[in-house]
Amino acid sequence: MTMTEPGTRGGAVRSVPDLVPEELVALTRRLGDPAADLVVLAEGNTSTRLPDGRFVVKASGARMDQADASGFVVVEPSELVRALDNPHTTQDELSALLADGAGRRASIETLVHLAALEYGGAEWVAHTHPTAVVGLLSIEEAEALWNAPLFPDEAVVLGRPAWVPYTEPGLALGRAVVAAIRGYAETEGQPPRLVLLGNHGIVALGRTAAEVEAVTTMCVKAARVRSVALGAGRLAPLDPVHAAALAGRPDEVERRRLLRRAAGGEAR
Ligand SMILES: [Zn+2]
Repeated sequence: MTMTEPGTRGGAVRSVPDLVPEELVALTRRLGDPAADLVVLAEGNTSTRLPDGRFVVKASGARMDQADASGFVVVEPSELVRALDNPHTTQDELSALLADGAGRRASIETLVHLAALEYGGAEWVAHTHPTAVVGLLSIEEAEALWNAPLFPDEAVVLGRPAWVPYTEPGLALGRAVVAAIRGYAETEGQPPRLVLLGNHGIVALGRTAAEVEAVTTMCVKAARVRSVALGAGRLAPLDPVHAAALAGRPDEVERRRLLRRAAGGEAR
């Protein structure tokens, strides 16, 4: 495939519009619709895995609402994984890897996608900055505010989100998202469907384009519900055991039930 592909060889990135799935372009345009208020200008980015193991991610500077195949680049993940794993990698070295050698660059947030695809088991990823959510990621209580779901559909669609405190975009943010996804998978037994980035935005992970769109939309709804609830009184989150059951974690429910029994508490 490498022999026949057009596009100029750069670091880990090539511009190959023919390889960009139409479904990715369509998803990107829908998420970029100004009416959805998920992004403005060139904010946000989307990605998906290709059958050959590489992935396609939005190019730097491209607008989501005007996306077409030329606004994406193809990334070879192995070189980026090596860069992430090497504690001596500099931001300049990363920037060189993200250029295609002909003036096209992958988004500086490509490492967030790499984290979700390589360490989070995702096939599709959408990173956006929804106004309704970013507001609630920019307060001192943000982490606690998002720690437990408030309504059943939030628990079902989002599960418990992973949390990443504000980190400078680029290498540092990529490493922080990898660490958060790994830590989450260790404690929860599965990767997150949603990663919240403090003072920044959200990352939706899914097996399909529809899944990442659903996670994004539900996260915005969950933010609006929080805003309404906070204006009316104190939050009353769902019971964690019930929330875990809704999120499809019968093993977790059973474990907590056994713990409660062992502690002499009520067995539900
Ligand atoms: Zn961002």
